[in-house]
Amino acid sequence: MKNSCSLTDLFRPRMLKRGVFGAVASACAIIAGPAHAAENPTVMGESRDASRQVSAEPDSPYAAFLARYVEWVETIEVEGQARGVALTPKQIELAARIGIEHPEKVRLVYVNEVPFPSDDPQMRKVGEQLGFVGTGITNNAQAFGYTVWVRDGFDLTWPLLAHELVHVQQIERNSSFGAFVEKYMKQLMAYGHETMPLEVEAYEANRIYAREP
Ligand SMILES: [Zn+2]
Repeated sequence: MKNSCSLTDLFRPRMLKRGVFGAVASACAIIAGPAHAAENPTVMGESRDASRQVSAEPDSPYAAFLARYVEWVETIEVEGQARGVALTPKQIELAARIGIEHPEKVRLVYVNEVPFPSDDPQMRKVGEQLGFVGTGITNNAQAFGYTVWVRDGFDLTWPLLAHELVHVQQIERNSSFGAFVEKYMKQLMAYGHETMPLEVEAYEANRIYAREP
C-alpha cells in the first residue's frame, strides 16, 4: 500500500499515533515522506506484540476504512487500465522474473498526485493517521492491482520499478485486492513499515534488480 511502498531511500516511515487502530506503526510502503529511509528485512512470522494486532471486527474503524478503500480502489484500477501505459518488453521480462502471472496486464499510470480518497472526510482522517496523506507526505508510487501509479517527476528507476512489481505480484497472488490490503495493514500495524514481511520482500527486489540490464 502506501509508501508504495516503496521507495527505498526516499521515504521515512512515519510513526503512527495510537489512534483508531490502537496501534503504533510506521507509514505504508508506498508513501514517501520528506527524505530518507532504510528498510530492514525480516522473516515472515507472528506479530511480536499481540496487543498491537488490529481488530478486524466488522464495526471497527479499521474494517470500515478497508471496505471503503477497497471499493474505491476498484474504480482506480479501471481508470488506470484505461489511461496507463503497458510495460515495455524489457519491463515485461522483469515482471515475469518477479513472478507476475500476467505482466501484459500491468499499466504504469503517471499522475500529478498518486490518488487517495481524500474527498471522503473519514477516509482522509484515517489516511492522515496512517501517514498516507497529509502535510509533508508525498506518495511517489503505489500499486493498486495491475496498475502502478507514479507521481509525475518521480524517477521510477529499475530497482524501484522492481519493488512496485513485487507489490503487483503480491496482489495478484492474493485472492483479491481486499485480501492483500487487509494483510498489508495488519503487518503494518504489527511490524511497522521497515520490517513487515510484504515490504521486506519488495525491498529485496530493490537489491536483486539494482541495475537495469
Ligand atoms: Zn513497498
